[in-house]
Amino acid sequence: MALTLVHDCPHCHSQNVGFTFANGVQTHTTISSSMGRCYAWSFMFTCNSCYMPVAITCHSHMRSFDSIRTHGNILQNGDYLAQDIFPHPEPIQIPEHIPAHIAENYLDAEYALKGKRWNSAAMAYRRVIELMTKDKLPEAKGNLADRINKLSVTDEIKEWSHELRFIGNDAAHDVENLGEKDALAAAELTYYILTYIYTLPTQIQLAREKE
Ligand SMILES: [Zn+2]
Repeated sequence: MALTLVHDCPHCHSQNVGFTFANGVQTHTTISSSMGRCYAWSFMFTCNSCYMPVAITCHSHMRSFDSIRTHGNILQNGDYLAQDIFPHPEPIQIPEHIPAHIAENYLDAEYALKGKRWNSAAMAYRRVIELMTKDKLPEAKGNLADRINKLSVTDEIKEWSHELRFIGNDAAHDVENLGEKDALAAAELTYYILTYIYTLPTQIQLAREKE
């Protein structure tokens, strides 16, 4: 056993992931806090999923820190009271005005991308586009390619959607793993397709209602 941290990772967004303890240092000898006069500590950990570092600032009555005798999740440690965790996670930008079930799947894709799970991300973005075509053309028959062709959008948006479909298909069926470049391209295409199909029309409509 050793000191650990169990928390959502601000880098890869893995949920309730374990972190490995790296170091603990006292940063101020005495400070005043809700605990009265005490000591300020910083603890460093690395994520067991993406190996990126995080730091936790704590207040404690403890003058010293014994890495051998301190065990378990630091957030449940009565001696060291966590104040903040750094870095704060970057907020994920979801295109506005998209249906809730599509937003949920978009978020899954973004989490996979942040976690550098390129195949999962590309498949999840493809699923987002699949759900979008089903939302826009609930009656349409056929596969994803047929539904993309039936969308009332510009040829360019259709091309982008097909490109995304190819990347998603490669991620699902290719023996070789997909790289970062393709996954990032899928992310960008999905963002702009959703913005074009949902965000812009609603924004224009809202602006007109104000006139
Ligand atoms: Zn991580």
